[in-house]
Amino acid sequence: MGADLVGAIPHFEFTREDGVKSVHKAFELAVKYDKMVDIHCDETDDDQSRFLEVLAAEAYRTGIAERATASHTCAMHSYNNAYAYKLFKLLGLSKINFISCPTENIHLQGRFDAYPKRRGLTRVKELTEAGMNVCFAQDSMSDPWYPVGSGNLMYVLDAGMHIAQMMSIEELENALDFITVKGARTLNILDRYGVEEGKPANFIVLNAKSGFEAICNRVSVACSVRNGEFLFERAPEVITTDNPLLKG
Ligand SMILES: [Zn+2]
Repeated sequence: MGADLVGAIPHFEFTREDGVKSVHKAFELAVKYDKMVDIHCDETDDDQSRFLEVLAAEAYRTGIAERATASHTCAMHSYNNAYAYKLFKLLGLSKINFISCPTENIHLQGRFDAYPKRRGLTRVKELTEAGMNVCFAQDSMSDPWYPVGSGNLMYVLDAGMHIAQMMSIEELENALDFITVKGARTLNILDRYGVEEGKPANFIVLNAKSGFEAICNRVSVACSVRNGEFLFERAPEVITTDNPLLKG
């Protein structure tokens, strides 16, 4: 009927077995119709929620891992390290993509905790360091789960870098990758993504000289170009002050 991809939400099924079946079904359909798979996976603080291993194994066996995505995987935050060590081997083999939604996850997870409260974000730093493709996204605009979504990925990135504790110079320099090329790779659109001759002229311009400066100064978008035309341009902010230290 024209669907782009197959989804599932295994941790919402009645039983562990039902959840496993739903992941298998999603991959069966994806292979049959040659579509991508995006599983809303383990968005819970329950350390026993382990559908990611099912997803990764299925992606590995079917050979469509690069077109498969595990979204959220919040339970990974709470996995014991012995299990996470074993899991990372499978994840590395499978080469699936990850989407983390830092603003939603920090708001929604940890709700059943007294203090100390868990952050509930998946292991963005560790997955990235292990060479896996992790990107940041926002999956709520204004809904009961998260009322203050704006779709501005610069806010999402800012939150993500804080919550995932990624503040080295190198991490900050490469931070924009989380909302650009890594997202494009997850969406399987690298063939038409990026500033290169022959690709669609779709891009934004940030008021910064480097990735680090863009993050550090929380810069705004100077302009957005869609198919070679300005979607909008933003005039530089003008600040008026009598304070001599702030002038010039
Ligand atoms: Zn969601």
